[in-house]
Amino acid sequence: MTRMPDTDVAIIGAGLAGLSIATWLAESGDGATLPRVTLIEPRLEDANDHTWCFWDQQPHPFREAICHRWPRWRLHHKGQVVEREDQEACYAMISEDALSTTASRKLQDVNEFDVKRGTYVRSISPGRDFLDVNTTLGTLEARLVIDTRPPSLSSLSRQQGMWQVFHGLELEVPGHGFDVTTATLMDFQPSTDSIDFIYLLPLSSTRLLVEWTCFHVDRGAPTCRDLLTPEGLPNRLAHWLHQRLTGWTVIRHETGCLPMMPVRPPTLDSRYLAAGVRGGWMRPSTGYSFETCQRGARAVSGQLLQAAATGRWQLSAPRLRGPVLHWMDKVFLHALRRQPERAPEWFMQMFASTQAAQQRRFLGDTPGWLDMLAMMRALPSAPFLKAALAMAILPTGR
Ligand SMILES: Cc1cc2nc3c(=O)[nH]c(=O)nc-3n(C[C@H](O)[C@H](O)[C@H](O)COP(=O)(O)OP(=O)(O)OC[C@H]3O[C@@H](n4cnc5c(N)ncnc54)[C@H](O)[C@@H]3O)c2cc1C
Repeated sequence: MTRMPDTDVAIIGAGLAGLSIATWLAESGDGATLPRVTLIEPRLEDANDHTWCFWDQQPHPFREAICHRWPRWRLHHKGQVVEREDQEACYAMISEDALSTTASRKLQDVNEFDVKRGTYVRSISPGRDFLDVNTTLGTLEARLVIDTRPPSLSSLSRQQGMWQVFHGLELEVPGHGFDVTTATLMDFQPSTDSIDFIYLLPLSSTRLLVEWTCFHVDRGAPTCRDLLTPEGLPNRLAHWLHQRLTGWTVIRHETGCLPMMPVRPPTLDSRYLAAGVRGGWMRPSTGYSFETCQRGARAVSGQLLQAAATGRWQLSAPRLRGPVLHWMDKVFLHALRRQPERAPEWFMQMFASTQAAQQRRFLGDTPGWLDMLAMMRALPSAPFLKAALAMAILPTGR
C-alpha cells in the first residue's frame, strides 16, 4: 500500500508570501482538486507592525483589504518637486491585520488547509519518501515544502547591494495639512554617507504614516542595528517631526531592515522551493515585494494544482523578473553604492523624465521594453556606464 505523508504541501511562514500562496491556491481550486496544505507559523498573533504599499495594477485576492489609495505620488529634493498622477492604478496600502484577516476568512472553510501557529521550523531534510520538516511540535512529512522564512545572511550578495533601514510612526495629528490624495515617496534629507529620505503617507485629514528611510552600504559600521537604536533613525525622525508638526500622538511603530541586494535562494531538491524574500521575490533596487509576490503566488499555486492533479510532486522557481530588469537593478545598485551623494538627483531625473504608468509598471516589476528604455534614457549615461563596466570587471561589485 502507498504510504501517505502528514501533508501534501508544507508552507513555512504565514507572512506575505505564505499567506499569498495559500490564498491564491484556495481561490483557484476546490475540494476535488486541492492538495492538503499545512501552514506553519511561529507567531500566535500578528503584531500589526507592517503595512504593504504597491501600485494596484494586477489582480490579487486582497483587494478588499486595501485601506488607502493615493492617485498621486511625489518626490522632493532641495525645493524641487516631481509629481505624477494615475487615476487608473493608484498607490495602495494594506495593513498586516487586514491581509491576515482576509486570508483567514478565505482559508477557514477549506478543509484541505490546516494552519499551525505557535510552531517553529528547525530544519528540512529529505526523508526516504517525503521531505521531513523538523518543528518544535515534532517532525512533519510533506510531499512538497515551500519555505518563506527570512533569508540567511550567507544567501545575500552583500557586496552588490545596500540595506534599506527604516523607522516609521503612524501619528494622529489634527490639521497636519498634507494632501490626502498624494503619497510622498521620497523627500530627500541631507546625509553624509547614506541615502536618506522621508516617506510620508497621509492616511486621513488627521492621520499620517511618516518614515525615515535610509539606504545604507554595509561597510562594517554603522550596522542596521546601530541605525535602529534611539540615537539613530528614531532620533532623525523625531528631529524632522519637531520641525514640521505639532501636537501629535503616536498610534504605532513600523520598523524594518530590508536587503536591497540579490538573494541566492537555497536549494534542496525539486520538492523544495524558497519563496518570498528568501526566494529572491523582493526587488533588490527598491525593497518592493507585494506585486511580485502576488505573481509568484499565482504561479506557485498553479504548480501545486498541477502536482495534485498529476501526482508529479515537484516545484520550480517561477520566473518573476526578466534578465534585462535584473541587470538594470544590479547596475543601479552598483552606481548608488559608488556615488550615494548623487542618488537624489538621479531619482528626481528618473521620475521627472518618465510617465506615471511607466513608473508604476517599472516599480511593480512588469515593465515593457519601452518602459525600461525610458528609465535608462532618464539617467545620466556616464556614471551608469562606469558602474556597468566596473561590474563586468569586478563581478562581486567591490
Ligand atoms: C515593516 C515593513 C514594511 C514593508 N513595506 C513594504 C511595502 O510597503 N511594500 C512592499 O512591497 N514591500 C514592503 N516590505 C517588504 C516585503 O514586502 C515584506 O518584508 C514582506 O513581508 C516579505 O514577505 P515574506 O513572506 O517573504 O516575509 P515575511 O512576511 O517576513 O514572512 C516570513 C514568515 O516566516 C515566519 N518564520 C520565521 N522563522 C520561521 C521559522 N523558523 N519557522 C516557521 N516560520 C518562520 C515569520 O514569522 C513570518 O511570518 C516591507 C517590509 C517590512 C519589514
